[in-house]
Amino acid sequence: MKKYLVSARKYRPSTFNSVVGQKTLTATLKNSIATDRLAHAYLFCGSRGVGKTSCARIFAKTINCMNRTPEGDACNECDSCRAFNENRSLNIIELDAASNNSVDDIRALVDQVQIPPTTGKYRVFIVDEVHMLSQAAFNAFLKTLEEPPAYVVFILATTEKHKIIPTILSRCQIYDFNRITIQDMVDHLTYVASQEGIIVESSALNVIARKADGAMRDALSIFDQVAASSMQNITYQSAIENLNILDYEYYNRLLDAFLAQDVPQALLIYKEIREKGFDSLFFVNGLAAHIRDLMVARDPKTLCLLEASDEARQSMAALAVRCTPQFFYKAMALCGDADLNYRTATNKQFLVELLLIKLCQLLSPSPIEAGDGEGQLKKIAPANTPQQPKPIVVAPVQPVASAPAPQQPVVVSATPISSRPVPPAPMAAVSNRPLGPKVPRLSLKTGLKQAEEAVKTTIQPRNRNNQFSDDAIDIAWETYISSHPTAHILVNTMRTARPKRLDGTRFAIMVENKGQVEMMTDSLPDIISYLGNQLQNDFITFEIVENQGESSPYVWNQREVYSHMLQNVPHMQEFVKRFELSLS
Ligand SMILES: [Zn+2]
Repeated sequence: MKKYLVSARKYRPSTFNSVVGQKTLTATLKNSIATDRLAHAYLFCGSRGVGKTSCARIFAKTINCMNRTPEGDACNECDSCRAFNENRSLNIIELDAASNNSVDDIRALVDQVQIPPTTGKYRVFIVDEVHMLSQAAFNAFLKTLEEPPAYVVFILATTEKHKIIPTILSRCQIYDFNRITIQDMVDHLTYVASQEGIIVESSALNVIARKADGAMRDALSIFDQVAASSMQNITYQSAIENLNILDYEYYNRLLDAFLAQDVPQALLIYKEIREKGFDSLFFVNGLAAHIRDLMVARDPKTLCLLEASDEARQSMAALAVRCTPQFFYKAMALCGDADLNYRTATNKQFLVELLLIKLCQLLSPSPIEAGDGEGQLKKIAPANTPQQPKPIVVAPVQPVASAPAPQQPVVVSATPISSRPVPPAPMAAVSNRPLGPKVPRLSLKTGLKQAEEAVKTTIQPRNRNNQFSDDAIDIAWETYISSHPTAHILVNTMRTARPKRLDGTRFAIMVENKGQVEMMTDSLPDIISYLGNQLQNDFITFEIVENQGESSPYVWNQREVYSHMLQNVPHMQEFVKRFELSLS
């Protein structure tokens, strides 16, 4: 009966040319052998499974070969080569420093060094995971490493170059091994499959290569595992099932939902993913990686940053053109935030659902987004406005409670208070209508186009003076916050500095320090413009008060945020009902 050999051993490279993914490095090694410029110590650095030990073995075999090929490779036929290939050569000594890291182990090695080769020219000592040697062992090793007999070559290998002490580094020729690219792995796996008579789908090999994360040895082990469980017929489906990988199809369907602003669909897909047993954080990171991949695939200049086979790259590029770069940037930022907040979130499912809702709303033509400076919607300069609203007073400020107004606080209003001309047009009146449940589903292109047209045809608002409650301004304040998820500092300030009505349309906000005073002074014109549209009132003004020692009056807890979202986020109540959500 034929003995079964795992692919990682059976297809271990036996010549420099068959080493996968290290072309430059193997060429340099071959060259130094051909020109007889051997160093007495080499350091091979690189992550696991990239071919360090394989190269060391090939190196040892090649320098001992009695009949090298014109290309400088080992002949694999002479006595020495055969001894190497049959693992009986005495000219190669391997020490795994991970398990043999004591002074005694090194002394035994140094004793071995004194024995000259009986056949061949060199004895090669391979010390794997050399960074694991104890300090004393290092010291015992140094002298020999510096002045070994002429017939000795040391090859030290490590996955953690930064842990190697300088005295060792300076005595070695250093070779850095690359991570093996997906394309190189797919090519090699295709070769192995053809040798083994296994039928494979290239998309399945792509999945295996990604899972192996740069290590060829892992890729071959995974390949064996999938081949065994799929009866020698490796399909994409069998690969993702076997490796418990989330099918890209889910991410692509989610992208469709984002583009169609179809929140219910996005939430249902997420439910499906959860039911398949995938962890939510794993899902968020997978989604982030997918969006990132699409972003780099979209531009031919960055396509090289996409680690995938050529075929996969093309299909990603075709998908990516449906979105704008801006969409990707914002989506990545949202995913990044969700990842950061995940560990501290008490209701993780809620956090992910909120992320999906936000992603679905990225393309909704809201005024807030227009103000984000994405270049899609521009502020319209008011035609004949006398002067831009400016903070009127910048003076030392006092808490509003203790002193009604002995010193004038910073006042920011949309319009000069004395004579109120037509206020400057808010930047995009598209948003005057709250995003009700009947947000039209727009494709990316038509969405932007409609938004642009809406801006062009904005009617300058009149002196609107709608009465509104404290709750109403609080809610509008919150929606402004929730639509600026990436403006962390502003958002945090706004969370704690909530507007308090002084009288009529005059409000005060209390901030904690000078920096916040400045930031709010800069941001308030935009906020006021937004609030004006939401509340249909052009007379809102704010006074910024710096807190002089009182503790902050208002910090939102999660329940408050949740209840505000219930009231403000379109579809929210529907989702809560449909998915039976609650704050745990
Ligand atoms: Zn040979």
